[in-house]
Amino acid sequence: MGLGALGSTIAETLVRAGIGSLIAVDRDIVEFSNLHRQGLYQESDAAQRLPKALAAERRLRAMNASVTIEAHVTDFRADNAEEIFSGCDCILDGTDSFETRYLVNDLAVSTSTPWIYGACVAATGMTATIIPQVTPCLTCLFPDPPPPGAGETCDTAGIIAPAAQIVAALQVTECLKLLSGDQNALRPGLLSFELWPFRLIEIGTKDPKPRHDCQTCVRLEFPFLEGDRETEGIVLCGRDSVQIRPPAQGELDLKAVAARLETQGKVSVTKIVLNFETEGLAMTLFKDGRALIRGTTDPAVARQFFGRFVGS
Ligand SMILES: [Zn+2]
Repeated sequence: MGLGALGSTIAETLVRAGIGSLIAVDRDIVEFSNLHRQGLYQESDAAQRLPKALAAERRLRAMNASVTIEAHVTDFRADNAEEIFSGCDCILDGTDSFETRYLVNDLAVSTSTPWIYGACVAATGMTATIIPQVTPCLTCLFPDPPPPGAGETCDTAGIIAPAAQIVAALQVTECLKLLSGDQNALRPGLLSFELWPFRLIEIGTKDPKPRHDCQTCVRLEFPFLEGDRETEGIVLCGRDSVQIRPPAQGELDLKAVAARLETQGKVSVTKIVLNFETEGLAMTLFKDGRALIRGTTDPAVARQFFGRFVGS
C-alpha cells in the first residue's frame, strides 16, 4: 500500500526475497524531491513524471522475474479496496495518509487479514503488527484519525532516508514471520523511535489485546470501507479549483499549520483562513479542515497537494 519511502524499500526487499506475488498501489508520480529516500526510482523517472506504480513495476520485474507483480496507478478508496486486495495474505502500510490507514484497517479487520502499520517523518518512525481479533487494531491504538494539519508531513518537516528504511525493515521482518507461519515470533505492541537524538519506545508489549469497546474490531463497524468517512474532492466547474473536505472533524490551529508551511511557499493567515501558494497551486485552508485548491481541476492533483502540505 503506497510506493513512497516505505513502499519502495518494502517492495524491493520482498521481491528480492522471492515473495511469490506482490500487489502494489500508488496514486502519485515520481518527483525529484523523492529520490533521496525512494530507492526504486531514478532521475529519468522524475524528469518524465512517471507514475510511481509504473516505474516501480518495471524495476521490481527486473530484480526477480519469478515474482508475480501487479501494480495499480490509482487512488486507494472504499470503492476499489476490496477488489485490489482480495486474497492477500498480508498488507504492508507504506501510505502517508491516516484516512487510507483507517480504510486499510477496516478492510483488514473485515476480512481477517493481518496488516503492518508503518509511519515515518523527519528522523522518527513508528510501526505495529495488527492481527485482527488478536492484537489491538489501528482504531484500538488511535480511536480517531488526527485532524488534518495536526502533525508534520514529509513536505513540511522533511525526512531522512534511514528513518524510512528502519520502519520498512521492521515491517518486512514481521511480514516474513507471518508468511512463514511463525506467529509466535511476532513483535508485540507499538514501537516508536527517534534517530536524532536516539530514543526507542515500545508501548503495550505485555499481552496486547483489542480494546474492549473498539468500533472496528469489537463492534465490527467499518465506516471507512463503507465510504461514509471518505475525503470528498469536488471539482468546482469553471473556477479551476477543487474542494477537499477531510473526514476528521475538529478545529485546526491555522497558525501552527502556517508556521510549518513558511519555508515551503507564500503563506498568510487570519483567524479564519490560511492562504498558501507554491508550485503553481494556491490553497485556502479553513478552520474546519476544508480546503480549496486553485490552479487545477484534477481531484487527484488537489488531493496530493493537500496530503503533502496539510496531511491527510
Ligand atoms: Zn480495534
